Amino acid sequence: MRDLLQYLPVVADFPRPGIAFRDICPLLADAAAFDQALASMEELVQHWQVDRIAGIESRGLIFAAALAARMHLGLVPIRKPGKLPPQTLRENYALEYGQDGLEVQHAAFQAADQVLLVDDVIATGGTLLAAARLVQRLGARVAGVVSVLEIRALDGRARLEAAGLEVRTVLRD
Ligand code: AMP
Repeated sequence: MRDLLQYLPVVADFPRPGIAFRDICPLLADAAAFDQALASMEELVQHWQVDRIAGIESRGLIFAAALAARMHLGLVPIRKPGKLPPQTLRENYALEYGQDGLEVQHAAFQAADQVLLVDDVIATGGTLLAAARLVQRLGARVAGVVSVLEIRALDGRARLEAAGLEVRTVLRD
């Protein structure tokens, strides 16, 4: 087993001064490390009932797509504003470094779908909270959220759990 944290080097002051950015590219570039990350994610959610996987643009979608194929589940992209053709629903949210919005297509989910939300890194948790609200506004349910890494100092887990969401992460830093 590899220590996957070694494949997620910290890049200081990117994309803004003061941000310690975790670069996922070395992990993606190593087939065994990427496979181990996906296998761990799958194992972490194996007891959840999941009908569909939703991945958050940009880097969350990479893991979500691979996990969806691995778990034989359909994939729903949750994207930055203006990328998805209509009709879409939008949520605005605060990021560790700035403000942003997310959109999903109206027709993305069936009413009682149990949706697994996937992102690469949980920082403040704001992105996943916004994604969860989109799922819920469309009448589907969030089975839980899974990510490769959570940044403990920013305590996104507490915000997500306070909103009633189950959280699983492969790595904590
Ligand atoms: P947050 O909404 O604060 O939990 O931020 C999570 C989102 O921003 C994820 O989609 C990450 O890709 C990205 N992100 C935030 N902080 C970092 C970081 N320090 N390193 C890598 N990605 C980050």
